[in-house]
Amino acid sequence: MIFYKTEEEIDLIRASARVLAQAHGEVAGMIREGITTRELDRRAEEFIKDHGGKPSFKGYRDFPFSLCISPNSVVVHGFPSDVALKSGDIISVDCGVELNGYHADSAYTYPVGEVAPEVLELLAETKKSLYLGIEQAVAGNRMGDVGYAIQNYVEKRGYGVVRELVGHGIGQKLHERPDVPNYGKRGSGLKLQTGLVLAIEPMVNLGTKSVVQEKDGWTIRTKDLKPSAHFEHTVVVRKDKAEILTSFEYIEKALQ
Ligand code: MG
Ligand code: MG
Repeated sequence: MIFYKTEEEIDLIRASARVLAQAHGEVAGMIREGITTRELDRRAEEFIKDHGGKPSFKGYRDFPFSLCISPNSVVVHGFPSDVALKSGDIISVDCGVELNGYHADSAYTYPVGEVAPEVLELLAETKKSLYLGIEQAVAGNRMGDVGYAIQNYVEKRGYGVVRELVGHGIGQKLHERPDVPNYGKRGSGLKLQTGLVLAIEPMVNLGTKSVVQEKDGWTIRTKDLKPSAHFEHTVVVRKDKAEILTSFEYIEKALQ
């Protein structure tokens, strides 16, 4: 079952997305060498609760934290930890907020200190691919158009697109139908309609597209242990242009 949202429901998701964007900004302002990712997790949880929301991830299938924090070769679903960040690391911070019964979901990958140029480029190109995917999320297009735009852009640069994990519909549940693959064929798949709310989230690897899951049952890592980047927005399909409900505005302000 695919749920197409009313404008009232989209307003509720927008409200969740606003708290989420601000929570990301709080975390962004703390990222530096020496801080532990557990501190980032605590701050995000506190901020979300202070603003009347609930961290969507905490307790989701028993996930124990409010943030997924995925350093370096961890693609997604990493656990916050007491290991301090060091110069040269990259970390993906993925967060979800539930407010008034509706979820929003977004992710951003940060460089810490001095990061190798090829890795900085991976971050920039993965972020760019997210927006290329979003450009295709308009009524009348097909899901394959979204995936194709992402895949075509990043594979031309020699990167690997993760197949095992995909974006998703979002609303009253964190993960709803349909799947939003970051790969695909133009003109194939579900026809997109106004009111479809999607979390689009390219996961792009510097090397091979292959990933492995660690014994904790969550952490997904690249098979070749090369770095991976992840950017995500929650968007609503509209007639001429998708509307991005989440925002990197507060992140970018914090990084200035
Ligand atoms: Mg996410
Ligand atoms: Mg997601």
